[in-house]
Amino acid sequence: ASASEVVLLHAAVAALAQALGDAEPELSALDRRVGDGDLGINLARGAAAVRAAGERLAGLPDPAAYLRALSEVLRREIGGTSGPLYSTLVLGLAESLRGVPHPGPQEWAEAAAHGVARVRRVGGAAPGDSTMVDALVPGVAALAAAAGPRERLAAAAAAARAGAEATAALTPSLGRSSYLGERAVGVPDPGAVAVAIQLEALAAHLGG
Ligand code: ADP
Ligand code: MG
Ligand code: MG
Repeated sequence: ASASEVVLLHAAVAALAQALGDAEPELSALDRRVGDGDLGINLARGAAAVRAAGERLAGLPDPAAYLRALSEVLRREIGGTSGPLYSTLVLGLAESLRGVPHPGPQEWAEAAAHGVARVRRVGGAAPGDSTMVDALVPGVAALAAAAGPRERLAAAAAAARAGAEATAALTPSLGRSSYLGERAVGVPDPGAVAVAIQLEALAAHLGG
């Protein structure tokens, strides 16, 4: 594995982290409406930790080692429900890429699907429950389906955004927003919006 591959991967993750930091007010405002208001802070804290660990992470030998270490950083630093779920997602990516030093688009798509399956297993959410899963599932499906590597991320971001917007019409059945029940209808799930923001940042970074 070339170290530069991990450096490029970290640059993509740093772009995603930057977007999360910028979105802190928007995500906190959404979570104030249907949750406890901390989602923006939780994710911005994770983003700052990723930045702080950048040099160490970017020096790791291959994508699987990088993602394993990243999962650990997220598990330690992100609070709330999001912490364990993001940590699980990234650990799933690492598991899938073990022994794959130079993953191509197909292997990344499979790894993403594996990570999302892990999130669903750990959190127990299915599409339609109004959670981050409603953006992740269409996102990874588009990742596997689109033609070229650049189109894939753009398609994944668009599908995740559509999935996030569609949660506004749903009555949440998991997490804090479920306490509001039908009163949460009209507000998109904050965690799903956060997923869309991250995939859009990745697509912009890698797709140019
Ligand atoms: P908390 O409710 O602990 O403050 P966060 O604010 O960190 O959690 O994250 C809230 C988001 O977590 C929700 O908007 C939703 O997308 C996601 N979420 C909550 N419960 C689950 C679950 N069981 N499975 C998947 N995602 C979930
Ligand atoms: Mg919250
Ligand atoms: Mg909380």
